[in-house]
Amino acid sequence: MRFRVRKMPALVLVALVAALPGISQEPQPIAGGNPALPLVHVENGQNSTSAQNSHYVVLVSLDGLRWDYAKRDRAENLLALGKKGVWAPDGMIPSYPSLTFPNHFSIVTGLDPEHHGLVANSFYDETKHAKYAIADPNVVRDGSWYSGTPLWSLAESQGMHAACLYWPGSEAEIAGHRPTWYAQFDNKTQATDEAEQARIDDAIALLKMPEVERPHFITIYYSEPDHEGHQFGPDAPQTKAAVLKMDKLIGKLEKALRRTGLPIDLVVVSDHGMAKVEGGWITLDEFADLSGFESSGALLYGTSEENREEAYAKLKQASSQFMAYRRKDVPAGLKYNQNPREGDPVVVATGPYAIRVHKPVQGKLDNGPEVGMHGFDPGRVPEMKAIFFAAGPDIVRGKTVAPFQNTNLYPWIAHMLNLQPPRIDGSLNVLAGTLRDNGGETPNSAGPQTAEQGPQ
Ligand SMILES: [Zn+2]
Ligand SMILES: [Zn+2]
Repeated sequence: MRFRVRKMPALVLVALVAALPGISQEPQPIAGGNPALPLVHVENGQNSTSAQNSHYVVLVSLDGLRWDYAKRDRAENLLALGKKGVWAPDGMIPSYPSLTFPNHFSIVTGLDPEHHGLVANSFYDETKHAKYAIADPNVVRDGSWYSGTPLWSLAESQGMHAACLYWPGSEAEIAGHRPTWYAQFDNKTQATDEAEQARIDDAIALLKMPEVERPHFITIYYSEPDHEGHQFGPDAPQTKAAVLKMDKLIGKLEKALRRTGLPIDLVVVSDHGMAKVEGGWITLDEFADLSGFESSGALLYGTSEENREEAYAKLKQASSQFMAYRRKDVPAGLKYNQNPREGDPVVVATGPYAIRVHKPVQGKLDNGPEVGMHGFDPGRVPEMKAIFFAAGPDIVRGKTVAPFQNTNLYPWIAHMLNLQPPRIDGSLNVLAGTLRDNGGETPNSAGPQTAEQGPQ
């Protein structure tokens, strides 16, 4: 696949709260917006008439909230949301690898990671001779790393405003657009109680703006309970407490959205689950000479056909805790065999095992793996499954759905927003039965373009 390098936009960015002095454009006031979450405003014109007549979707992600936590911990607001609308009692299936950036971006593009380009949280690109890393804001904000059309770009391209109160990819210009409002992620402050509440306040303030201005599609991202799941494990009391804290916020958000009186569909998902790691680190260079390889996490980038084949031959017999494949031979179900960013050979854990390429360099601390981890093949490690709860004017009441691939959310959300989706990997057919109009009877019924049809 080709990766296009895109120019930075000639847009006027206005920091709303930390307003820059001397800006001639009138800043868009967000009445009641919370100063704990300043938003960047992008001049994207006004909502079209058709956008103004469309419904609203608020898409929330609770990072690492495993599919079974809600029932286990009696997360009453999530369970009530599912009862009022739809939910997946046996979970939603993340894309492989079940990591944060690949899956958040699959949810908003409808594409498998190898098609949208984020094949891991960090990876190497041989054409760019550069590494993508989620901790590097300069890279994260560079649109040339991303492919596909995120829902906010789809909305903006069709005359509808969008806002991202955090979401992986939302700080870059992708497919020629940026959301009209977005927050810049700050790992240090985003998990404070104040900053968590601020996402609700900002969403409501945005929805109270004049009809020509207000966003119809809003994303909200929370980093919990992933953090607790890693540090203490999925079954720890700290993780349960974080689940209930997030559930309380969902209750607050739901109530606040209801009070606006607007036709809003609330969709709450997670990116992946969490599993307790078995054993210590598995270090790949103990099985094969990988000294000439570029690497990132457990991804391996051979420099020649010879060293790829040599490493593969060694690794494939090395352990029952991982499989090694030449990239072209990675089983089709993983959808991980087309993008050079996936490396070659490709190593896939057969269970909840922590795999790395090298030991830390001498003098650096070699800690054991975290208690909880994710990233594994959901087919082998079902703890990787995520949540799906949704209710609103476009969604039927009291329905459950069988586990489905998260790429199918895209055409479903686009349908609720009256947007025409591009060609993607997900299909509207999978969730059409949860829509009051069965996925038809709208101006879009001429048919969303999907690469695959039918349940996956
Ligand atoms: Zn995550
Ligand atoms: Zn995590």
